[in-house]
Amino acid sequence: MKSSSTTTLEQYRRDIARCVRCGACSTVCPSFLADRRESRSPRGRMALIEAVLDGKLRVSDVYRDRLATCTGCMACESACASGVPFSTIIQAAKEQAVQEAGPGIIAGLVSAALKRPLLMRSLAWLTPVALHYGKGSVRGRKTGQGEKRKRQQQGTGTKGRGARGKVAFFPGCAVSYFQPDIGDAATVVLEALGYEVIVPDGLKCCGRPYLSLGDRAAAEDLARKNADALSTLDVDAVVTACASCGLTFKKEYPALLTPSGREQVRVLDIHEFLNGKVAGLDLQPVKARVTWHDPCHLGRGQGLAQIARDVLRSVPGIEFVEMKDPAQCCGFGGVMRVSHPSLSSTIGEKKARDVSATQASLVVTGCPGCRMQIADALRHAGTEASVVHTVQVIEAALREAGQGGRGDAGTGRQEIDREE
Ligand code: SF4
Ligand code: SF4
Repeated sequence: MKSSSTTTLEQYRRDIARCVRCGACSTVCPSFLADRRESRSPRGRMALIEAVLDGKLRVSDVYRDRLATCTGCMACESACASGVPFSTIIQAAKEQAVQEAGPGIIAGLVSAALKRPLLMRSLAWLTPVALHYGKGSVRGRKTGQGEKRKRQQQGTGTKGRGARGKVAFFPGCAVSYFQPDIGDAATVVLEALGYEVIVPDGLKCCGRPYLSLGDRAAAEDLARKNADALSTLDVDAVVTACASCGLTFKKEYPALLTPSGREQVRVLDIHEFLNGKVAGLDLQPVKARVTWHDPCHLGRGQGLAQIARDVLRSVPGIEFVEMKDPAQCCGFGGVMRVSHPSLSSTIGEKKARDVSATQASLVVTGCPGCRMQIADALRHAGTEASVVHTVQVIEAALREAGQGGRGDAGTGRQEIDREE
């Protein structure tokens, strides 16, 4: 399908020229710090993009690699005194590369898999391996998990009390296919607050992976479909527990929906929605030493680093300890985890060291992708800490208080190790 909007690299020429090659961004770039290649630094990428723009360099496999190994963490933008809008430029460069030379083999394979829900579902068995359920740090309960997932995908509403209102939950691919336990926990928490929770029919991938691959036409198509599914709902809010989905709705949808004239949709990250509400719940203490990892797309992307901490710290009993560099990228990088697993793992090793140094038994984060990545990094480091989403900590505190709402919604639950 042809995109009805066009982003061209040329329109960012002046922004690219703002880069004075000072290198301040390199000191915070996870892909550069992992292998010290200048061409994998933000400054190096900017030079390559400018060379392609000036016709001095062709779109090659190496050029694609340098674009694809950017995790999209946005740390360079925060560090850049010249205000170079790196994310926007690299997105335009990816789209220009696809327009000029096609998607490339790896991107083509990933894109093909993403377009096949059955294949994605069949890959779900990998998740317990990635989250090392077998080691007991994050234990998945299998009973009813498939049934719950099916209900989510069919858009069936859960039987919440609904006294306070109605919320639509946007699960996104990572929760739908790989970590339904996060969706289940979000549902339990929202129901405990008095909201009826629905997962509307017709929801699709938010489009983020396709943007990462430079496939703007596919992202626009998905944005249209999601807007159609969400814009006519009679709900108090649409919430997601995936930081990347949330950022995509907020930052990318205004442009993705413009060509079709669709109404914009307002989607809140679940931390935003829960902020100030959790204290009203009857929670029992969760006695654990807890550290927090800032997902790039939640902290830098949506400015919710403090709010997420506030929500987490409203759970009684936890001993909160900050890790070193909590906002440093974990290395997941969405599609990059698949296309460049070795680089992704190297970046993850630093995160595992920072977690281990806290001696926390529980790592909490706000993104399913980060959760998978950090759990995998900890497994390789031999660190026995559980990795969960914030809603799973709240769910555990509810369960302790006998309000876990397991009932018919209680499927695919996770147990959080507690230090009694
Ligand atoms: S910090 Fe900004 S100006 Fe300096 S090299 Fe990086 S992108 Fe260029
Ligand atoms: S977004 Fe992150 S990974 Fe990409 S160039 Fe900037 S700092 Fe490096």
